[in-house]
Amino acid sequence: MGLAVNGKVVASGAPETYPLRLPLSPAARLSFIKSGLKLRWAAQGFQRAARRQIGESASAARARELAYRENETFADYLGVMHPEVEAIFRAIAERITAEPHEITAGCGAGLFAVVWDSNLTLARNLIGGSALLPLTLARHLGSRIVTGAAVEEVVPEPTGARIRVRVAGRVRDVSAKYVIAATPAYVTHRIVRGLPADTADALARIPYGPFVCGAVLTGESGPMPWDDVYAIATPGKAFNMLFNHANVLRGSGPREPGGSLMVYGGGDLGRRLLQMTDGQIQEAFLRDLSTILPEVKDVVREVIVHRWEHAIPYIAPGRHRLQPALERSLGNVLLAGDYLGFPEMEVAAVTGLEAARTARGGLAPVEGAQSRVLERVQP
Ligand SMILES: Cc1cc2nc3c(=O)[nH]c(=O)nc-3n(C[C@H](O)[C@H](O)[C@H](O)COP(=O)(O)OP(=O)(O)OC[C@H]3O[C@@H](n4cnc5c(N)ncnc54)[C@H](O)[C@@H]3O)c2cc1C
Repeated sequence: MGLAVNGKVVASGAPETYPLRLPLSPAARLSFIKSGLKLRWAAQGFQRAARRQIGESASAARARELAYRENETFADYLGVMHPEVEAIFRAIAERITAEPHEITAGCGAGLFAVVWDSNLTLARNLIGGSALLPLTLARHLGSRIVTGAAVEEVVPEPTGARIRVRVAGRVRDVSAKYVIAATPAYVTHRIVRGLPADTADALARIPYGPFVCGAVLTGESGPMPWDDVYAIATPGKAFNMLFNHANVLRGSGPREPGGSLMVYGGGDLGRRLLQMTDGQIQEAFLRDLSTILPEVKDVVREVIVHRWEHAIPYIAPGRHRLQPALERSLGNVLLAGDYLGFPEMEVAAVTGLEAARTARGGLAPVEGAQSRVLERVQP
């Protein structure tokens, strides 16, 4: 991950060298080195906490991750910083849609650990876009999948559950032996009836922050200066982060024409952006994008603005105490989703797989596509 500060982009080399290579005042440089060392220490601790021991369940590792440095906020842990350095850390914390004083020190450390440690999860990309995974699963499941179906309630029953679902404006009741509730925590809280009080309370207390994203299609005919860059944190701009998602395609084979950039603003910046019209957001994004990557001006073909009011759950102090209520058995209703651990796709996928295994374990052997797909996705 690179950094764009005071008109300069540094996006290669060891992160430890960034304080020396960015155009900062001596006081800001010193402050950055101090905070950087503290962060390096905390990120290493997070990496140790996240590592699964042999024979340990994924849920035990999740609980340990959530409890890591949970008794102070990220802002308190970093302490007083030079304003320029504070802006850098704020931009990066807003990647999880919250401010440094809203997340635990462990959560802040995790944001860096997943970038710095190639064994942790964020350092992976699905070439073609992450939507390929659910699309492929859906293709294998065929007509068993119903999309555009809004679940209105899930009512546990002695041998399963009844689901009330609205499809194409019509309400239907469906009976199931198992339900995997893979909706965001606040939706699961709203639709699943009869939850134990502590589980319902825990679901209601998972905080989510906003993101406002801009996807930028570019039409260049050859290599661009950002081809080698994947992500840049952009403090003080209309967005916190800039991504070059096509980066994974560069460097192998011929450089295809065109590309795709993405920017987003989260946390307080996201809340400010939510007050603006799409046109105003687009203008602000493009203006700041061209101050960081000047060549972009001539190649933008299309911009799409997308608003996520509840984009990602974040880990606030005290979050780990909710974990037992979220991981407990709820009979035939199984919970899955990113809010069950350090929030990212891996946790969503792993908890989904765990729930699927539990459900399959309780079902009579099933012939056909469903069981075959589960076999295929097992690691
Ligand atoms: C802009 C952005 C960038 C991100 N970047 C990364 C990244 O680089 N790496 C990473 O690991 N993670 C990233 N994330 C986070 C990642 O997308 C989430 O952690 C992940 O998608 C969570 O998966 P999930 O299945 O738990 O929830 P979701 O993906 O939110 O899925 C929940 C589903 O429930 C559906 N639903 C809601 N209500 C109902 C209802 N009543 N009935 C039926 N269905 C319902 C929704 O439509 C949705 O499809 C990013 C998120 C955003 C918004």
